[in-house]
Amino acid sequence: MLLTGCQNIVYKAEQTRVLMGTTVKITVIHKDGKVAVSAIQDAFTAMQNVEKLMSIYDNNTELSTLNKNKILRNPSQELLYVLNRSLFYSNISNGAFDVTVQPTLDLFTNTFNVLKRSPTEQEILAAQKKIDYKKIIFKNNSIVIGPNTTITLGAIAKGYAVDKAIEVLQSEEIDRALVIAGGDLRAIGTAAMKQPWIVSLQNPRNSTEYITLIEVHDQSVATSGDYERYFDENKTFHHIINPKTGMSATELISVTIIAPKAMDADALGTTVFVLGPVEGMKLIESTENTEALIITRDRQIIRSSGFKY
Ligand code: AMP
Ligand code: MG
Repeated sequence: MLLTGCQNIVYKAEQTRVLMGTTVKITVIHKDGKVAVSAIQDAFTAMQNVEKLMSIYDNNTELSTLNKNKILRNPSQELLYVLNRSLFYSNISNGAFDVTVQPTLDLFTNTFNVLKRSPTEQEILAAQKKIDYKKIIFKNNSIVIGPNTTITLGAIAKGYAVDKAIEVLQSEEIDRALVIAGGDLRAIGTAAMKQPWIVSLQNPRNSTEYITLIEVHDQSVATSGDYERYFDENKTFHHIINPKTGMSATELISVTIIAPKAMDADALGTTVFVLGPVEGMKLIESTENTEALIITRDRQIIRSSGFKY
């Protein structure tokens, strides 16, 4: 597409692919259309590389190997970095963020989708006992996890991949772009006609409506919601787990975070979802350059002190 600005002619190139179990859309605005298109290809390749390391839906990734063998020798720097950042978020949230929740998600998937029933209290407790981020240990150039530990990076890897995509775009002279991967996005520079990038925040209970419009100025926005993946009609059982109870977190239905980097916005979105309105907002107010909009189960909308939209 050709966009005419005040003085310069620029191209808008856009491509959508399905990656990391979600729809990823990259938009680039640049004076050279060929440069824009080729940068987009390279950004997708970078995201694909993250998926090849960190997905649990492909048996050949590093993370799948770690989950299966409980040890991974010579892990990539990327996996080490994302796991380290995950442990950082576990530490600052007193364990609300915990990438070892996968046994509970496996239980929900098996009971609801295969056995066509709800999990029993006993089953929930047994799975909950397997959750413990302290069972992730780095030693002798290996990652070791407990015999019952399984990891999912579903709460952070997409954000990391978006950051990687932006890094690649910037290394190829792109300074105006928007990368959206499901609920995670990051923008650099300005959109069409030098206006800021604007994204809408979906109403979590009606996808045809939006709550507000957010201007994104060289920032990231991540939304975590119970409506993204759930197992029962009431959304009592959904994909964000409170590690303390082994049940889904139900105080909030949606959390939107604005932060400099997509990985941090992604991890904080999930963390605040689990922490709930009081502890969650405390964490956001004490984190620099970070804002949140949360929606409670009774549809109250709460904004952090610097959330302007
Ligand atoms: P998000 O959409 O970013 O909130 O990520 C949700 C995904 O994070 C889920 O599908 C799980 O894979 C994973 N997850 C669920 N609960 C937690 C938790 N308490 N801490 C870290 N990751 C979690
Ligand atoms: Mg997240």
